[in-house]
Amino acid sequence: MHCPFCRAEDTKVIDSRLVAEGEQVRRRRECVTCGERYTTFETAELWLPRLVKRDGSRVPFDEEKMRNGMLRALEKRPVSIEQIETAVSQIKHALRSLGEREIKSLLVGEMVMEALKELDEVAYIRYASVYRHFQDIDQFREEIDRLSGKSK
Ligand SMILES: [Zn+2]
Repeated sequence: MHCPFCRAEDTKVIDSRLVAEGEQVRRRRECVTCGERYTTFETAELWLPRLVKRDGSRVPFDEEKMRNGMLRALEKRPVSIEQIETAVSQIKHALRSLGEREIKSLLVGEMVMEALKELDEVAYIRYASVYRHFQDIDQFREEIDRLSGKSK
């Protein structure tokens, strides 16, 4: 990269070490032209796909929003923050490994439902009822039946 002081193209790395538990590389650089030193941080670029909503509009993936939705469903349920964070990471990992630049926002909802189903069935039902906008009680009961039929 260009020197931020004099814009010269030639800089050399004088020190390089891992930081942030190995998630980043910190490099001390020195400009060959003006001799100024500066630091750069390097991280792996892991884009999350953009979400395509029902109406076709595109929005950036919003981790906070997803987490809040899960927390709401998990309110007063016996699930630890640790478990929730693990689920959030797994969903993000799954989204990244799709390798798509855009995905239907619906897909994220489905992934959250899958994760909640593993964590806590009550939370799953809560989330699904909001997410799928169950039209009537029959539809809701159907989902519960389907669930209990599946449970071991
Ligand atoms: Zn320079």
